[in-house]
Amino acid sequence: MYPAAFAYSAPETLDEALATLSQEGESARVLAGGQSLIPMMKLRLASPAHLVDINNISGLDHINSANGYLRIGALVRHNDIVNSADIAAHNGAIASAAPWVADPLVRNRGTLCGSVAHCDPEGDWNSVMLAVRAEVVAQSAAGERVIPIDDFVVDFFTNSLEPGEIVTEVRIPKYTGKGGGAYLKLERKIGDYATVAVATQLQLGDDGKISEAGVALTAVNNKNTRATAAEQALVGQEPSDELFKEAGALAARAAEPESNVRGTAEWKRNVVSVYTRRGLEASLAQARA
Ligand SMILES: Cc1cc2nc3c(=O)[nH]c(=O)nc-3n(C[C@H](O)[C@H](O)[C@H](O)COP(=O)(O)OP(=O)(O)OC[C@H]3O[C@@H](n4cnc5c(N)ncnc54)[C@H](O)[C@@H]3O)c2cc1C
Repeated sequence: MYPAAFAYSAPETLDEALATLSQEGESARVLAGGQSLIPMMKLRLASPAHLVDINNISGLDHINSANGYLRIGALVRHNDIVNSADIAAHNGAIASAAPWVADPLVRNRGTLCGSVAHCDPEGDWNSVMLAVRAEVVAQSAAGERVIPIDDFVVDFFTNSLEPGEIVTEVRIPKYTGKGGGAYLKLERKIGDYATVAVATQLQLGDDGKISEAGVALTAVNNKNTRATAAEQALVGQEPSDELFKEAGALAARAAEPESNVRGTAEWKRNVVSVYTRRGLEASLAQARA
């Protein structure tokens, strides 16, 4: 299938890209890795009148740390994350999710920020971003705003960007002290989207109790979902098998999956429960290592 006709520009500066987006309004779309947008255009699920390709803009491919945040730029590919020693050293949830995203070809082109913007409920990154409490930095011709990930992920394929805004980076609090995270994904075959996946993040206080907890779910709701009750049950508690089992049960209650060829709703909820428990165990082991 061929996409509908569209205009194309490939600016070399962010200002130029923002000016074009501002001029074209809602009919324009940002093109990053093209791994979701191009297939959607070919299937005529999207027909933007103008594509603004951001791949020639320098300064958007950074993975670095500043002001207590790990910062991942808009042109950082999934594979850059797989290969990043900085991320491996500082964020177990992100590091463990990266190799599970799609297949090597898609990972070479697709970007984390593109996935975040795409808001596919079966996409992996927004669950991880929820668990690690990321913020999305959006730039427009009018200026910059920082959007907490909970406000950014609005609904099924819907984010809270305004027309004319580009995501320039995501920022993740750089955890200090004892912490760990994990991403557990069940897929039918290598490179597939998740049947069910769970992202977890734990921080331990000096007393060994859980001081912060993140639990978020993929492919079991209309959007990637924070399991708030599970997180609340964990904070302030001594880590234990019983506690993690309880958190798993609470996380399963936050899931409203559909029964389909991948499994029944009841089975998927059970996977959420088991994967939450196992993810928390892995996060704890990392925090104590
Ligand atoms: C075969 C295949 C398997 C896949 N499997 C998985 C999987 O297992 N897990 C998974 O999570 N994903 C999977 N994907 C999706 C893949 O990860 C994409 O790379 C990702 O969803 C989008 O990133 P992108 O850079 O390609 O974005 P694009 O396709 O370029 O854009 C996607 C959307 O985001 C918007 N956008 C992109 N960048 C920005 C920006 N900086 N600012 C504002 N808006 C922006 C675009 O306008 C568009 O609406 C798969 C894709 C394919 C083709």
